[in-house]
Amino acid sequence: MLKIENLTAEVGGKTILNGLNLTVNAGEVHAIMGPNGAGKSTLAYTLGGRPGYEITGGSVTFDGIDLLALDPHERAAAGLFLGFQYPVEIPGVSNVQFLREAANAQRKHRGEEALTGGEFLKLAKEKAALLRMDMDMLKRPVNVGFSGGEKKRNEMVQMGILDPKFAVLDETDSGLDIDALRVVGEGINSIMRAPGKGVLLITHYQRLLDYVKPDFVHILAKGKIVKTGGPELAHELEREGYEEVV
Ligand code: ADP
Ligand code: MG
Ligand code: MG
Repeated sequence: MLKIENLTAEVGGKTILNGLNLTVNAGEVHAIMGPNGAGKSTLAYTLGGRPGYEITGGSVTFDGIDLLALDPHERAAAGLFLGFQYPVEIPGVSNVQFLREAANAQRKHRGEEALTGGEFLKLAKEKAALLRMDMDMLKRPVNVGFSGGEKKRNEMVQMGILDPKFAVLDETDSGLDIDALRVVGEGINSIMRAPGKGVLLITHYQRLLDYVKPDFVHILAKGKIVKTGGPELAHELEREGYEEVV
């Protein structure tokens, strides 16, 4: 479903991704762990097509198409979702407006009809309930004044509404308390654990993987995948640290 081959990328003139290889098949969840500054967020941004992240070599195919040739909105329309380590605040735009625009832009791109107000609200309520998010938060400006954990939950509500084929989630667990971690973990499973879908879960901590059980765990260091294993690799890292394991 997602095939990354020999990917190299620069940010600010500095090579950050340095020959990265990774294949995710439909139905799989892959976790990526790695020390600070390894290039995990850079990988997420590069897959999303963020300006300033320059591809200098290699390829990425998504469902057989050249992902890197698509604009960011085309990548989203193709079914790619990015959950950010630092979700942005959008003052002046309500969450409901934002989510409805995003959902309908994606439907339009796919040649589907826009959701009516009623249809959208039903969907939004369902996903907010799944993430135990108060409907009042949907009326507030996007992420403005939200706590770290609320922003992450909000991202998962957005993911639920967009119903992507593939999600790249960058430290979605950071800033979550124990209960929120479980809710978010169950939300990810409910939205993304399906035969035709795939997930790349970037995390520093094993605990999220207790809820979202990965098929593979990779260690990313210095811009490439240096080790791959099963869920036990995350436990090993937790016990021994990167220096011992890598
Ligand atoms: P991780 O998410 O694994 O902690 P990042 O992908 O955020 O790492 O960063 C990888 C490296 O790229 C770091 O050394 C970081 O300082 C550097 N980097 C990220 N963005 C920029 C930028 N805009 N200009 C220069 N260096 C950057
Ligand atoms: Mg980091
Ligand atoms: Mg990061």
